[in-house]
Amino acid sequence: MSNDFSVDAEWDKLYIGGEWTESESGETIPNEDPSTREVFTEVAAATEADVDAAYEAAAAAQEEWADAPPARRQAVVEQFDEAVQNHRDEIIELLAHEVGGSAIMGETSIQIAGDHASEAATLPRRMKGEHVTSNIPGKENLVQREPKGVVTVISPWNFPLNLSMRAVAPAIAAGNAVVLKPSTESPITGGLLFAKLFEETDIPDGLVNVVTGRGSEIGDHIASHPESDVVSFTGSTEVGQHVAGLAGENLAVPAMELGGNNAFVVTDDADLDRALDGATFGSFVHQGQVCISINRHIVHEDVYDEYVERLTERAESLPLGSAHDDDTIVGPIVNESQRDEMLDYVERTVEQGATLETGGETADLDGVDDSLVVKPTVLSGVTNDMAAACNEHFGPIAPVIPFSDVDEAVELANATEYGLSGAVHSGDLEVAKDIADRMETGNVHINDQPINDEAHVPFSGIGASGVGTYNSDAFLHEITETKWISIQHDAREYPF
Ligand code: NAP
Repeated sequence: MSNDFSVDAEWDKLYIGGEWTESESGETIPNEDPSTREVFTEVAAATEADVDAAYEAAAAAQEEWADAPPARRQAVVEQFDEAVQNHRDEIIELLAHEVGGSAIMGETSIQIAGDHASEAATLPRRMKGEHVTSNIPGKENLVQREPKGVVTVISPWNFPLNLSMRAVAPAIAAGNAVVLKPSTESPITGGLLFAKLFEETDIPDGLVNVVTGRGSEIGDHIASHPESDVVSFTGSTEVGQHVAGLAGENLAVPAMELGGNNAFVVTDDADLDRALDGATFGSFVHQGQVCISINRHIVHEDVYDEYVERLTERAESLPLGSAHDDDTIVGPIVNESQRDEMLDYVERTVEQGATLETGGETADLDGVDDSLVVKPTVLSGVTNDMAAACNEHFGPIAPVIPFSDVDEAVELANATEYGLSGAVHSGDLEVAKDIADRMETGNVHINDQPINDEAHVPFSGIGASGVGTYNSDAFLHEITETKWISIQHDAREYPF
């Protein structure tokens, strides 16, 4: 396969041991553009034998890479980062074709992915050990930090580039090898693209391997592979629990970033202009298909009516359409089943007594049968137990729930098994900080919205939102091992 990053390039091979290879079965999986509903390319459906070959290549290549000097590992990750920037336009186009990412989604993906690659490039020189004084006379204790070995990366489709990047780049930087299994909705931008980008660096063959294929067919084999030392998984809680179980049986470290049901709390003295700016972005960017987007708006009763009215106006003003149109803000949902599920949540919420202020249906797209674009939707009179509020709707849907005092707001925000992100808008920073302290989530943002990721700041979910922490030093700990070496300089006195 040549280094062609265009949509029309060949994308139907696996990348194993530095070679582009056919899947053992020869079978392929169609890749549909959610804007046009047309299949624009096919990717290989890997078999368990292909997966075994990928792990074998990874384990073999990692042995030498573990000893590569920090400057060498840093240089490879920097070259990789440069390759991402050099191919930014093609990558943005691929994201639009593969997952219906608008121009904003594409630009954001490149920016966050670049941030993760830049941060990863600093890790090789920061993989430091310790010298610990011993209680035993004449003994010296050294604690070394070493790569774990082979890191499995299983990524989702919603922000495929940066969600694969945040695990792949640090894993390589820290001296590991990688087997990357992207989502079947994003096999290129979450997977094959990485192989082509690494081909533009001096990375040794076998360190990065990409196997495309359905999770239902090869997922268990990957998650439970004996050569896998860490399973970095980003995806739904349901699949994540299953994958963590398989990784655990094999005693591989599970680093799991899972679903969310993120609350956006607005108090009575909040600056409503700012709150509505955040609310509109946090609910509708990338059609709400972000794990840390706003799932529920929890708004003080004194400003509730004005908030609902103005959010409805904002929702109706957003340009809808194909991801290939530069003006589009709200593009298509990734596939039919996701679209139907979110419309079902809306319908059930209305049946449960909420009011549909706007949206709740698909928008027609010229020349497209059965459009996947869902109109931005606002629901009022919502309670926490209604379908669009108690489920991760993963769509351009804004259920608005009223509250009367701060304790109730906190109780509503926390009444979910998830704990990923959240936000609070208040005119009083002390009140906002108090609410943020009491919100049971891994991340909370005051006077902003919940979608934030900075590669040098720890990122984690609690409860059903995951185990393990991503980004910088925190993720370095997940993908490295500490090893205690002691040197007994003077003869030791033993009891017998
Ligand atoms: P998903 O259905 O759980 O799939 C995630 C990945 O797991 C895909 O690559 C999928 O492959 C694979 N998979 C499926 N079955 C498997 C199995 N038995 N063994 C191993 N892997 C398997 O999630 P998604 O629909 O792609 O992504 C959306 C979800 O991800 C949402 O819940 C969202 O909140 C969450 N998410 C969380 C974060 C975070 O940082 N916490 C970030 C982004 C997304 P196939 O596609 O081939 O099935």
